[in-house]
Amino acid sequence: MPGRKVICSLCQHEIPEKFLRAHRAQETKDIVAYTIELIKQGHPDWSENDPTCQKCWDEYRHSSSR
Ligand SMILES: [Zn+2]
Repeated sequence: MPGRKVICSLCQHEIPEKFLRAHRAQETKDIVAYTIELIKQGHPDWSENDPTCQKCWDEYRHSSSR
């Protein structure tokens, strides 16, 4: 199957579907919920079901450790 491309809803870059954020074992429910809140603060129209690339997700997730 050829890789489908999607537009990340945060950085607006076209990315292969496999670069979308994926759930990772070390992310607890709390981390995920907190990261979603952080993204929504900067992007009020964003929803957790919107396509989001791993890079954008990581940027918000890393900022939560400060
Ligand atoms: Zn992105």
